[in-house]
Amino acid sequence: GEDSPVLILEDVAAAYGRHVAMRGVSLRLRRGEFLGVIGPNGAGKTTLLTVLNGLGRIVAGRVEVLGIPVTGRTARHLRRRIGYVAQLQEFDPLLPMTVTESVLTGCYGRLGLLRRVPASERRKAEEFMQLVGLSGLEHRPLGHLSGGERQRAAIARALLQRPEILLLDEPTASLDWQAQRGILELIRTVHERFGLTSLIVTHDLNTLPDVCTRIASMKDGRLVRVDTPRAMADPEMLSELYGTRI
Ligand code: ATP
Repeated sequence: GEDSPVLILEDVAAAYGRHVAMRGVSLRLRRGEFLGVIGPNGAGKTTLLTVLNGLGRIVAGRVEVLGIPVTGRTARHLRRRIGYVAQLQEFDPLLPMTVTESVLTGCYGRLGLLRRVPASERRKAEEFMQLVGLSGLEHRPLGHLSGGERQRAAIARALLQRPEILLLDEPTASLDWQAQRGILELIRTVHERFGLTSLIVTHDLNTLPDVCTRIASMKDGRLVRVDTPRAMADPEMLSELYGTRI
């Protein structure tokens, strides 16, 4: 029903080969929630996203996304309903594409090849490029854009999937503060406008959008605590998490 959890994790562990990168993680998210996940490098934040996205290797526990158990066989089908904005990569294979082409890859899963994308999806792509603030840059190669503009294109690409869930991996990393603010504002807008359930990963508490309903902290592959943004801003909690005074 409307109120049943969109995401359920029960005592989940995930591994790369024999290396267990995340363990004992239990979490439930309701529709419309916005969870911020913080924690130091190597805490397992990205691993958590890959588990939800159906790309991680789950070695224990139970994962259910949008009412569907996540296993190897359902992952591809489920992935269509989950928008994923990855961390900026130096060698992103999308970089030679124009902004429009990169955004249109958001519907490859349904439609196959770029030349077969129907006019209706091209119009939607135009609309989303405008929404994210990339008007006039549609024909530029992605590689010629600023980091902030590339993240905007990645968000438009995710929106073209008509996702119900949006996963964001350090979307403001390596951006200057003004670009960071712009991206956080955009994330807030799309979360609200499309009624998404969103999850953002960051190592910096100050780069969470102000619409976060809860914040989870991770350390050494474990979920240490999940609480309100207010409670999580406590200096005691942060020093415990990072092992230093901030
Ligand atoms: P960061 O902010 O550095 O990305 P994170 O919290 O996202 O940190 P993860 O990327 O989830 O952390 O990594 C958790 C652990 O898993 C780390 O010990 C890391 O070295 C390991 N790990 C991550 N990716 C791989 C991989 N592809 N193969 C092997 N081990 C990996």
